[in-house]
Amino acid sequence: MQTMDSFNFAGKKAFVRVDFNVPLDENFNITDDTRIRAAMPTLKKILQDGGSVIIGSHLGRPKGPTAKYSLRHVLPRVSELLGVDVDFANDCMSDEAAAKAAALKPGQALMLENLRFYAEEEGKPVGLPETATEEEIAAAKKAVKESQKEFTRKLASYADVYVNDAFGTAHRAHASTALIADYFDADHKLFGYLMQNEIMAVEKVMNDTQRPFTAIMGGSKVSSKIDIIKKLLEKVDNLILAGGMTYTFTKAFGGKIGNSIVEDDKLQLALEIVDLAKEKGVNLVLATDAKIADSFSNDAKTAFAPVNDIPDGWEGLDIGPESEKIFAEVIKNSKTILWNGPVGVFEFDNFDHGSRAVADAIVEATKKGAYSLVGGGDSVACINKFGLADQVSYVSTGGGALLEMIEGKVLPGIKAIRGY
Ligand code: AMP
Repeated sequence: MQTMDSFNFAGKKAFVRVDFNVPLDENFNITDDTRIRAAMPTLKKILQDGGSVIIGSHLGRPKGPTAKYSLRHVLPRVSELLGVDVDFANDCMSDEAAAKAAALKPGQALMLENLRFYAEEEGKPVGLPETATEEEIAAAKKAVKESQKEFTRKLASYADVYVNDAFGTAHRAHASTALIADYFDADHKLFGYLMQNEIMAVEKVMNDTQRPFTAIMGGSKVSSKIDIIKKLLEKVDNLILAGGMTYTFTKAFGGKIGNSIVEDDKLQLALEIVDLAKEKGVNLVLATDAKIADSFSNDAKTAFAPVNDIPDGWEGLDIGPESEKIFAEVIKNSKTILWNGPVGVFEFDNFDHGSRAVADAIVEATKKGAYSLVGGGDSVACINKFGLADQVSYVSTGGGALLEMIEGKVLPGIKAIRGY
């Protein structure tokens, strides 16, 4: 298989699928350009080799062409970071786009307008009236799947080689993230550097594991993490479950949780997880104490309490000092660490102490030689808040894609290139 380092792009036109789905403020200023910066090594290498690039991405979830979701908003930043004036095609399927792609010279770059302005990118009909019958929906789905082939073929026709550097959408079988690869032979499709690094990081954690392996899963709900928890129970030595899901476990054990967040229909599931952990010999670590608040607010009155004895009218919004100590001890003795999800409401400064303690312990373990992967959901925002992103082994740019890969699913964007 070709790699970014083995492939010489001289004289070649590369269609590079990136993930420039960046957050914009109300004046369309980029508020976080991490994703744009993450694609730069790939784009720069192609131009330095003497190739040219056709950049394709989505932005947001438009239902047809919408000024708000135009990739023109990110064009100046892309040009600035790349050090090249990037040209723009207003419509990725137009004759203008084809002509501009055909005219690209070595070292030049063209960005296409938001690929999702076409329903064919995702292969799902958009704008169907709510009154549409099942037959009409089925007919619309069939029609868009049919026209998707021509859309994909045309995108592919702009380039000699296909590079996928959009890890954030690797779990989607869309035209530009997966289907397009069929139009290139095995020597002319490859992963960009970002995609390659993301895959290496997950495979190192899941397949080339140094033990003890500890996963820290936080976040609000157990229901949204159940598949990944079950998968991790097959792999880890220690599983720290924290955040809002703590209280579903505590309630299932008969504890008193006050107003804490809880999923009443998942109490049985929580007990099953406990049994499964025992069966697999996994050390399941739950919080023992909490920082509690008398309302869901940064300015709430606070106190500390055992997780199973929270007074009525109060709710647990962070772990307490005893849990911090227990978690840190487990983490510091680990050789492989995966962190997904804050252990408290880290967005409130008064309830980010527990997540900070977890981050500090991960940094310390990393300094002692552990491999640490942080990603998915809010974990990245969390580690960035503490300014510690450069002190862990790898911070993933993927949300859903990362979690699905950890769950052991084959991602369409990866399979399209390497076959598995
Ligand atoms: P998730 O997207 O499932 O990873 O959930 C992340 C969210 O969980 C963050 O916004 C946290 O504020 C929230 N969270 C963490 N701990 C708690 C808690 N004890 N109570 C309520 N929400 C929490």
